[in-house]
Amino acid sequence: MHYSYCPVCGKKIEKWDDQLIICSSCGYHFYQTSKPTAGAVIIRETGSGNGKYQVLLTRRGIEPFKGYWDIPGGFLRNGEEPEEGLRREIREELGIDILKLRLFHAVTDRYPRDDIPEEANYTLCLYFLCTIDDSKKLKAEDDITESEWFSLDSLPFDLSFKENKKTLDKVRRYLPEKGIDF
Ligand SMILES: [Zn+2]
Repeated sequence: MHYSYCPVCGKKIEKWDDQLIICSSCGYHFYQTSKPTAGAVIIRETGSGNGKYQVLLTRRGIEPFKGYWDIPGGFLRNGEEPEEGLRREIREELGIDILKLRLFHAVTDRYPRDDIPEEANYTLCLYFLCTIDDSKKLKAEDDITESEWFSLDSLPFDLSFKENKKTLDKVRRYLPEKGIDF
């Protein structure tokens, strides 16, 4: 993304590319990096046999992908520990505390927005496998409108974000082998 003026000294920026902006007046280096997010792949085991693993998905109430099913979570705050940020997001959206969690994988995705150039839209997505107390009533607040458990073998077709689909596919292959006991 192109910035016209230095955020430190306010002079005009003359040298920049999509990785780095350097202010020739004060020497400030601004690295253009992917924005970190944390996502909770909340799973539970029901019964036995095929389709026994379910995942809790949330419906997005905001753009991008408004109305699509999502893995709950969100953007980490500046300096926030990833696990803390994830717990905060899940409390805000679903009104519940995560019980167990474990980092599953980290990938880069896009957060498409019309008002921001494409090269400024990268996200670094940290996906965690999580469990909750599924007997508790869930809220749907903040950026979501509802939540629902889906079998990992029959996920909704209207899923948001490219990496959500790939992550759920990977979790679906992972769980029968490794189980939910992490
Ligand atoms: Zn400057």
